[in-house]
Amino acid sequence: MKKIIILGGGVSGLISAVLLARRIDFEVLLVDKNESFLNALRLHLTFQEPLKNYQKSFSDLANKFNFKFLQKEVHITNENLLKWERESSVDQINERFDYLILSTGASQVSPESIVSASQDSVVLGLNEFITEGWKDSIYQLISAENISFVGGGASSVQFIFELYSYLEKYKLKPKINFFTMEDRILSSLPNVFHEYIHSKFKYKNTYFYSHQKIKSITRDSILVESLQAKDSREFPSDITFLFPGVRPFPFRLETNEFGQLIQPSHVFQTIFAAGDCSYFHSSGDNSMSAQIAVRKARTISQNIINHSENQSMKIFNYKELGYFISMGGLDGIGWMLFPMNVLFGPPAFVVKELIEKQLEFFVTGLDTYVDFM
Ligand SMILES: Cc1cc2nc3c(=O)[nH]c(=O)nc-3n(C[C@H](O)[C@H](O)[C@H](O)COP(=O)(O)OP(=O)(O)OC[C@H]3O[C@@H](n4cnc5c(N)ncnc54)[C@H](O)[C@@H]3O)c2cc1C
Repeated sequence: MKKIIILGGGVSGLISAVLLARRIDFEVLLVDKNESFLNALRLHLTFQEPLKNYQKSFSDLANKFNFKFLQKEVHITNENLLKWERESSVDQINERFDYLILSTGASQVSPESIVSASQDSVVLGLNEFITEGWKDSIYQLISAENISFVGGGASSVQFIFELYSYLEKYKLKPKINFFTMEDRILSSLPNVFHEYIHSKFKYKNTYFYSHQKIKSITRDSILVESLQAKDSREFPSDITFLFPGVRPFPFRLETNEFGQLIQPSHVFQTIFAAGDCSYFHSSGDNSMSAQIAVRKARTISQNIINHSENQSMKIFNYKELGYFISMGGLDGIGWMLFPMNVLFGPPAFVVKELIEKQLEFFVTGLDTYVDFM
């Protein structure tokens, strides 16, 4: 019996656990710091629905898919990785392995590292939604006259459109200022993404400011510095949504083209990585997206099977086929097949729903991903 340990049960860890546990000669142990899997792609919808609708207990998943689960936060360092490889064992959980998968994802850039916020200010980021802590600030939210959004990435966009729907329930239309350090929203995507999203702001009492760096946040204001004019300006602000982006956690784990961990002049034969924490040196994409996390997980799972059978491994060469962003009820934008092929409005919304449903289907046992496994 080959023993597989997977550290991190997000999109990539869970996919690997389910695929590898199908093998009768593999015993799979999934380790996660939390007790439930969270479908982060749906996090912005928790404005309207309870978080538990997007969570699934790891113990239930383990029973359903025939793997074991342990709730534990494991401390990963370069020294630990070398030790674990040498001993074929993760000492912190006292478990030996034939193969180890690292799939610890990404973590939000810490708000404290980019801005000083006074004790009495209300600042909401991903962590407040992952823990449902934002609900402690509902009173401030529905009484706010001025709201700030900081960060021009996909999370900011998805959350702002859900916030509109949430506030509409209370017939509220506060002034919202949207700040980004870049020249436009979603600066890594074609300009049409910015134009479409921006065109909706005018109906929502929302004002966009590019090239702005946040300096400080207090209970009723936000101080921003213009990166072009080099002057600072204070805006009234009762609540700040802060989405400064994410970075690989605990650090970027480099792999070869097969997904095996590498360090300068060393290949870890039995340790693989997948998902947002990993960077594959291959022709495949390394975007921090669910689609790439799924494909990396499927590649390394097949490679672990092949390696255990002394067969050649498969090179990761998957290219992203599209990227979609939800903009609230029946609206969205995204690209399909190549970045200039852009879909808007209801068609984009439907594609986005279908992509997310694919992951939901997978955790209920229906594998609709088409590939080799
Ligand atoms: C709000 C939000 C919206 C998103 N929307 C989209 C979208 O629309 N489309 C898209 O393609 N992508 C989207 N993404 C990105 C997508 O969710 C990620 O790319 C994907 O989840 C990465 O999967 P992963 O397995 O690498 O990491 P994750 O899914 O983040 O899972 C990592 C897991 O590791 C666990 N873990 C971390 N550290 C430890 C440790 N030390 N010990 C034990 N367990 C640990 C965590 O608890 C977690 O369960 C979104 C992300 C967020 C946060």
